[in-house]
Amino acid sequence: MSSKPPMNKNTTPKLGDGGAKNTQKLSAGTAGIKGQLAKQGDRQMTKQKDKQLAKSGAKPEKESGQKSKTQANLQSKSKSRQRKSVPKRPVRKAGNTRLRVIPLGGLDGIGKNMTVFEYGDDMIVVDAGLMFPDDQQLGIDLILPDYSYIIENEHKLRGIVITHGHEDHTGALPWLLKDLSRRSVPIIASKLTCGMIKGKLDEHGIKNVKYTEVNGESTVQHGAFDLNFIHVNHSIPDALAVLIKTPVGSVLHTGDFKFDQTPIDGKVTDYSALARAGDAGVMLLLSDSTGAEVPGAVQSEAEVGRALQQIIRQAPRRVIIASFSSHIHRVQQICDAAVAAGRKIAVTGRSMLRNSQIARELGYLSIDENMLLDAYDLRDHDPEDIVVLCTGSQGEPLSALSRMAIGEHRSVRISSGDTVIFSATPVPGNEQAVNTVINQLVKCGATVYDKSNAMVHVSGHAASEDLKLLLNLIKPEYFLPVHGETRHLHAHKDLALQVGIPKEYIFVLENGDVLEFDAEGAYQKDPVHNGVIYVDGLNVGDFDSVVLRDRQHLSQDGIVTVVANISRRQKKVSGDVEIILRGVSVSDSEFFQSEIAERATKTLERNLRENATLHNARRSVRDAVSQLVWERTKTRPMIIPILMEI
Ligand SMILES: [Zn+2]
Ligand SMILES: [Zn+2]
Repeated sequence: MSSKPPMNKNTTPKLGDGGAKNTQKLSAGTAGIKGQLAKQGDRQMTKQKDKQLAKSGAKPEKESGQKSKTQANLQSKSKSRQRKSVPKRPVRKAGNTRLRVIPLGGLDGIGKNMTVFEYGDDMIVVDAGLMFPDDQQLGIDLILPDYSYIIENEHKLRGIVITHGHEDHTGALPWLLKDLSRRSVPIIASKLTCGMIKGKLDEHGIKNVKYTEVNGESTVQHGAFDLNFIHVNHSIPDALAVLIKTPVGSVLHTGDFKFDQTPIDGKVTDYSALARAGDAGVMLLLSDSTGAEVPGAVQSEAEVGRALQQIIRQAPRRVIIASFSSHIHRVQQICDAAVAAGRKIAVTGRSMLRNSQIARELGYLSIDENMLLDAYDLRDHDPEDIVVLCTGSQGEPLSALSRMAIGEHRSVRISSGDTVIFSATPVPGNEQAVNTVINQLVKCGATVYDKSNAMVHVSGHAASEDLKLLLNLIKPEYFLPVHGETRHLHAHKDLALQVGIPKEYIFVLENGDVLEFDAEGAYQKDPVHNGVIYVDGLNVGDFDSVVLRDRQHLSQDGIVTVVANISRRQKKVSGDVEIILRGVSVSDSEFFQSEIAERATKTLERNLRENATLHNARRSVRDAVSQLVWERTKTRPMIIPILMEI
């Protein structure tokens, strides 16, 4: 594929005077437009093409001196933006080196966030996250972004910035570090984030890692990049945005963030640092799109505390609360509410032990040791004196609750009069499972609260009004929505349009797409190698879709194994053909097995008489058995013929 024409060529203030110099202006990359892009050499577009591009919001190329209507529109739009206070242009050095921005993950769902910034011989990576599989990806434990581009350019790698301690930002680190040939690349993160990463890397046996601990006031330099960190609120303490100053201009990556005027630790998002960055001029903004479809502004974490206090105080019997262990502020609020109601706290869940220990050691969580109970000692206390906290990451709290509801949990069984609080939002794809558990709990006589009927959870991600506020504070020249599914990225694009960023300056990209910036403007280039890496138990690798399809196939239709001893010399099947059915539903399986054995024997003997190869004989058996099973069951299980020559 030849490289694409420069995109969004102009910088805002230049649109009037330098417009004629530009080779081509096209709107940022929606898939539809991408497909319509003419090749670089193909500068003579037909009228037809002009029409198509104009329709999709892109600008066809104009010859020198010519100004199109659309260009004039863009110009007037930019003027009106200028009136609204366009940022000062960042000082940019002339030169041939371009800044390359490459999101390797995070643009196709909430998870596996990873973005590469490259300038000349220097490269930094922001975040190295994983994604948990959905129920279509059977037997897959984790999904990582394909980071081969980083490995191929390892000699340039100056540092890995991790914005906060959530798995979708840290989870790929163990694998990435194992694949790098040197451990001297520093991990740059806040104190709590470093602590959580260290705990995770220890579990993987990865030692001698270099950490650069930063906070909301830090500035560190790595190669061509000056990294300035900015404190932001999120559903984990110590989250940071990073302002990356490069010779071409400044880039702000928000990480995950929300605005909270009354955060639990009293540390609000550093609005003045954001405003200062905006005033100095931000060339490119990458911003969290998770909440772009949520109307209004997101509520304060403190609201949850009030609701929890009220529910716990009024609860007639035991209270069981499910939450995520990394949400230290939530855990703190749950403990505070329990103590305020005179109840002790019993903690269940493996990851809670690790995370709470790190958080307590580092001073992010304060719980009076005397108020904590071992889950095994629950029998010694009256139900109305107890709050049980089940924590974990992802599905863990849910599965603990489910076991409690059906009486399989080793220390807690839900009974009539208990109160259960879901102080978390279901992981995407998990909503149905949560609903099933709620029904089980209600059947046991429990009163259940979740975010649908009480203020027991607020999001850690900025909602649409917050996102607009950020865009207005930063006033970026270019905007790249990140951290979301396609629908979130597009919703975020719409918000940017509403606050006056021209659409030609907004890029909705796909993982692996490359944006380049120089003193003149921005260009979209051919994507780099991209995709996903599946982690299946201990194996990491390129599971092709065939493996996943096989697993899906097995789970739906089951498996039929045909085991036969054959004698080529005698051209016959020796002994009985053994048939093993797994997951195949039939009314009379014994009769069915003998029927399959008979069909397989006939097929095999015909093949042997015809001197067929073993390979062909196997295929004939598979086809014949598959046909028979389809006739009887209308399913297509996987057929595995095992032929042994004697
Ligand atoms: Zn997060
Ligand atoms: Zn995230």
